[in-house]
Amino acid sequence: MRTSFQTVVKDRRYLADLMLMRLARWLRMAGQDVSNPPDGADDSDLIKIALAEERTLLTRDKVLAQRCENAGAACLLIRSSDLDDQLSELENAGVRLDLNPERCTLCNGPLEEVGESETIDDLDRSEEGSTLWRCERCGKLYWQGSHWRGIKKRLERMGE
Ligand SMILES: [Zn+2]
Repeated sequence: MRTSFQTVVKDRRYLADLMLMRLARWLRMAGQDVSNPPDGADDSDLIKIALAEERTLLTRDKVLAQRCENAGAACLLIRSSDLDDQLSELENAGVRLDLNPERCTLCNGPLEEVGESETIDDLDRSEEGSTLWRCERCGKLYWQGSHWRGIKKRLERMGE
């Protein structure tokens, strides 16, 4: 049952408002496409972007969520201020939260696999042999290490 629902929402794109930047980073770790709001964007700008780029706006602001609905833009109102609860709210809304390295957690750029960690000098020796990804937009490197396993655990817990 959950599998078919996940297929439906797989290609959904999001726009997070400034109150949800932390949640946005977690969503990107799950491979979701989540845009940051441009500097200085106000509520009207967010609605315009959501409409123009066909993104679902994520916000904790009820007034903004209502304005979004009135404008015909997709919106998910997040009720909790707690990250775990926020992730659960998204999971309940059908958002896939499996760890999936496709998006840079900082800038939302696409990640490309760039080999294994022994090719990089400054990685911890204990992380040798793990797969590496590089953000095509900002160049940040990602690899599977202890931090990664912590993230995976948390996301798996959300899915229970
Ligand atoms: Zn990046």
